[in-house]
Amino acid sequence: MYAIDRCPCCNSRENRSFPAIVAPFISDYVLGQNALRFCKLVECGNCTFRYFDLRYDEKETAALYRNYRGESYYLARHRHEFWYRRKDNDGIGHNADEIKNRKDFVSGMILPHLDNSKIVNVLDYGGDKGQFIPEGIGANKYVYELSDVLPLPGTVKLNDGNIHDHRYDLIMLCHVLEHCSDPSGMLGKIKQLVQGTTFFYFEVPFENYPIPPNWASAAYERYLHIIAGAGTMVVLCDCISTVSRLLLGRFPRWGFAKLHEHINYYNEKSLAELLLREGFRIIACKGDDCKSHSHIARKIGCLASFSKQ
Ligand SMILES: [Zn+2]
Repeated sequence: MYAIDRCPCCNSRENRSFPAIVAPFISDYVLGQNALRFCKLVECGNCTFRYFDLRYDEKETAALYRNYRGESYYLARHRHEFWYRRKDNDGIGHNADEIKNRKDFVSGMILPHLDNSKIVNVLDYGGDKGQFIPEGIGANKYVYELSDVLPLPGTVKLNDGNIHDHRYDLIMLCHVLEHCSDPSGMLGKIKQLVQGTTFFYFEVPFENYPIPPNWASAAYERYLHIIAGAGTMVVLCDCISTVSRLLLGRFPRWGFAKLHEHINYYNEKSLAELLLREGFRIIACKGDDCKSHSHIARKIGCLASFSKQ
């Protein structure tokens, strides 16, 4: 992993940071280390973006996502996180209610602002089988997906070899940017697909939980180092922190933030800051609550456009 000292959204060096832990699952499965590793949860003083100072390099990103939610991923994760069940692993992205909620939210973000008759080709970048593209949007549906899943009937699966063969009216990038070590680099990649003007729909989870005041204290940092030395305590504390985050939407005072797959925590301001800095024009940006299959998941949707001369 490599460390960054600037905000990935606005490039500011002004920030405050809190001690955090690299998830034991990540240390084992991605980094191949048994020892617990510390990191920092950083909050940008300018755009309020929250992020971890440590980032995955290319090799580590490939190791994490190569067999994403496959058998070896599940077994390694369950070994470190006993509360992570197989039904959670297999259900993510495939629960009918969750898919409907996500599609309804996307439609609600797009339809009031765009002339739907002009949206013909829709690409969901990193969109699994294409199940998150709303039925009423776009006559031709494409999905760029590196895993070996089969696309839904009527959806064309693309890869690096043929993604540039089409002109897209709308590109969706949903639940991707929170995973990216270099969000600007990711946006640069999808901007290469623009011909003329292309509309974009971005969606990220909203995970800006209030940070307990004691996390800024030296006592809290000492406490983290003490529990790090007692394996069972870390697992217990990790479990309590995770349950509190997912069910109550807050970190417990004596819990901790852990660097897992989401290394970026956006809010509307920081997401907008990132998109504007990358040259996008923002049309609409809003947050929403959504009951997912396992917990209350809040998310932010942002409709934007990018034009090339
Ligand atoms: Zn910032």
